[in-house]
Amino acid sequence: MAEQRVESEGHFEMLWDCDHCDTKGLLGLSQRFCAECGGPQNPVKRYFPKEGEQRRVDGHKYQGADRHCPSCNTPMGAQGKNCTHCGAPMDGSKEVRGVVAAVAPPPPKKRRWWLVALVIGVIVLIIFGTWYRFIRTKSAQVAVTGHRWVREVAIEQYGESQESQWHDQVPNDAEGRMCSKKERSTQKVKTGEEECKTERKDKKDGTFEQIKKCTPVYRNEPVMEDWCTYTVRRWKQIDSAKTSGTGMSPTWSTANLPPADTRASFGAKRQGKKTETLTLEFGTESCDVSDPTWRKYTDGQKVKVEVRASSDKIVCSSL
Ligand SMILES: [Zn+2]
Ligand SMILES: [Zn+2]
Repeated sequence: MAEQRVESEGHFEMLWDCDHCDTKGLLGLSQRFCAECGGPQNPVKRYFPKEGEQRRVDGHKYQGADRHCPSCNTPMGAQGKNCTHCGAPMDGSKEVRGVVAAVAPPPPKKRRWWLVALVIGVIVLIIFGTWYRFIRTKSAQVAVTGHRWVREVAIEQYGESQESQWHDQVPNDAEGRMCSKKERSTQKVKTGEEECKTERKDKKDGTFEQIKKCTPVYRNEPVMEDWCTYTVRRWKQIDSAKTSGTGMSPTWSTANLPPADTRASFGAKRQGKKTETLTLEFGTESCDVSDPTWRKYTDGQKVKVEVRASSDKIVCSSL
């Protein structure tokens, strides 16, 4: 919208129909009185001509909207000091009412209020229903029936691996880089064409101005960049040592694990990331929880929790 180009296509005659006889399509600027019966123009009833039938006013100098003669109501040009119809002075005259150009008439508002109310009602009902069925909770007492744990140590090996990245994201130690062009993004490019619409503006002096508003048309063009494949030496997970059990004293695997501080050399192994999952059991239900929460409760302890009102399922975050 910021790039809109606005161009005036000139001034054209508004039209009017005579109130006194049945003459139609009189010219707003050059026919101030009916060519047939001499009746004065009623500026309130001016209208835009049909598309393609407008008559240009060459060299029109716009001097302002017409004003009604305070005495006889005849529309006068903005410059006139006295009414040319009745001679009364134009002091205190009022500007004529303009016509709003109907470029693209807004879509008729056929929506009835009850339809809007119905739609809102259905949405509210769906929201309420969802809350009632799935979100609503109530308090309940449950007993802790057990503590479960799983501990896992990743085992990593140092070796070559092949990776691919955009040219500007390839790591510095990459070797054997091979790149080819690939579409990374798109950019908007002007096609040189414009999309234009024409608006008509009532100048309220018997003419209207035709204004052309144009915006450039864009198309998407691919942005090609280098996509590279290369090899790097990295620690990579190849296996893991897992232990699991019940009770409150979890242990890490004591199997033949490589040391955690192995130096990086081709084929070397080391311990990687350690992960732990702690679970509280409540009969058939269970919750994965943090270490402090897991240790807070003992087996057999009664715990006050929130449960889903619809399904009695424990809300684990309420522990
Ligand atoms: Zn007439
Ligand atoms: Zn007058």
